[in-house]
Amino acid sequence: MNKKERMKIKRHYPAELPAAERITNFNEVVSGFDHETAILEAERCLQCKKPKCRIGCPIHNDIPRFISLLREGKIEEAYWADRETNSLPAICSRVCPHEFQCEGACIRGIKGESVAIGMLERYIVDWMVANNKNLLKPCALPKDKKVAIVGSGPAGMTAAFCLAHAGYPCTIFESLPIFGGMMAVGIPAYRLPRPIIDAEFEALKNCGVEIVNNIVIGKDKTLAQLKEEGFSAVFIGIGAHKSRKLGVDGEELEGVIHGVDYLRRVNLGENLNLGSNIVVVGGGNVAIDCARTALRTGSDKVFILYRRTKAEMPASQAEVHHLEEEGVKIEMLAAPEKVHGHNGKLTKIECIRMELGECDSSGRCRPVPVPGSNFMIEAEAIIPAISQDVDDTANTGTTFDMSRWGTYEVDPVTMQTSVPWVFAGGDGVLGPQTVAKAVFQGKEAAESIRRYLEGNDLKEGRVEETEEQ
Ligand SMILES: Cc1cc2nc3c(=O)[nH]c(=O)nc-3n(C[C@H](O)[C@H](O)[C@H](O)COP(=O)(O)OP(=O)(O)OC[C@H]3O[C@@H](n4cnc5c(N)ncnc54)[C@H](O)[C@@H]3O)c2cc1C
Ligand code: SF4
Repeated sequence: MNKKERMKIKRHYPAELPAAERITNFNEVVSGFDHETAILEAERCLQCKKPKCRIGCPIHNDIPRFISLLREGKIEEAYWADRETNSLPAICSRVCPHEFQCEGACIRGIKGESVAIGMLERYIVDWMVANNKNLLKPCALPKDKKVAIVGSGPAGMTAAFCLAHAGYPCTIFESLPIFGGMMAVGIPAYRLPRPIIDAEFEALKNCGVEIVNNIVIGKDKTLAQLKEEGFSAVFIGIGAHKSRKLGVDGEELEGVIHGVDYLRRVNLGENLNLGSNIVVVGGGNVAIDCARTALRTGSDKVFILYRRTKAEMPASQAEVHHLEEEGVKIEMLAAPEKVHGHNGKLTKIECIRMELGECDSSGRCRPVPVPGSNFMIEAEAIIPAISQDVDDTANTGTTFDMSRWGTYEVDPVTMQTSVPWVFAGGDGVLGPQTVAKAVFQGKEAAESIRRYLEGNDLKEGRVEETEEQ
């Protein structure tokens, strides 16, 4: 096929469960491609000499190579080409915000639609599973130094994966009763089915990684105690689990439940119906996940309050589209000013209209309240989902250099913190970001820990990541 022919093929889109059906359950909404569709979509790739998609991908997967192998029908080889860099392909292919990462950089997207890279990656992994192929790299023989990992999210999982495959026994300490971090207690199951996360943990356990749940580092055990117990190095991958507050009067009333706290409770199995009328505040993916989860747990009038316009919502377009299909309305240019209540319980939310003011260099405009435009909304619950901060309980007894945003200061190449035997990565360093970015930092930290344990230079031959890489 020549370039002209490839350019003529239109992008393919996956089948989805109908909106009316899907809001009644947590089943996966988006289906995978069938074989013919995957091959035809793979044919759209131009195999660029300078593939921008690799730069856009936070882990720099060799996308053109796995696409080329896929279209030759070498699906197993395509999987291993992807797995060289990606420790969590089944997860990343489903949840990465592709439009801002690999697909956002794909050259075909400049004048038309990018290659559906995420769906192709998913096809490859799903094919391996459907054909009972081995998804695992062989484990290495155990070495004598062991590593403690705090947090079982994608950063901790990846650090454990890389270190275990280098032979270092690892123990993951996780404060929650389940593992997977925000992938398990944030991202809803209708976007990421739980057996996919479980399979990754089985793989880690197969390589000897020990996982200890219900232990809060900094409370049940300190970092110094881990050292005394013989852990030669520690990786901190604690994420950002503290909900940011709205800072308005009435926020302490019953009926106010903050975004990640709400999702955590639902994902841990609590039967939580917040009532009929629900207001979610925020414009990112967390707000959208809260709204769609509320629908699935029995609320029938859910809407989102966002202080800018739809064009400025940081959430991915596909998520906004799914949200609207499911019947959630977005009230734009509005923000809550006060939560009113009676007998300690929320009754009404007082809001104010906003207009867009000055714009910054990136074109993002500041929302400004319109004086005297206050209005009331009757609701049974409000879910503020405006961002998350790092809960640094793990630091108890150890002093770290922290940024003014409360994240860990690390060397940008090695992920080493100001305490030499402690490394950190993921949302705990970056603030709330993405799975792929956490995977990348977990991998870099594991490389540094390996060098540290072997007495080698942590930086030799490595360069700092920049936007252009
Ligand atoms: C609702 C929601 C939806 C999201 N959707 C997407 C998406 O679609 N795509 C995407 O790429 N990203 C998404 N993200 C972001 C993504 O989940 C995170 O960026 C990623 O999980 C961060 O990984 P991490 O390993 O740094 O931390 P986390 O995944 O947050 O894991 C940290 C773990 O550390 C544990 N921990 C914390 N403190 C301690 C302690 N003191 N002792 C022991 N354990 C501790 C926590 O319980 C947690 O399990 C979403 C996030 C949320 C909240
Ligand atoms: S940028 Fe797009 S077209 Fe080019 S190699 Fe990557 S996926 Fe293929």
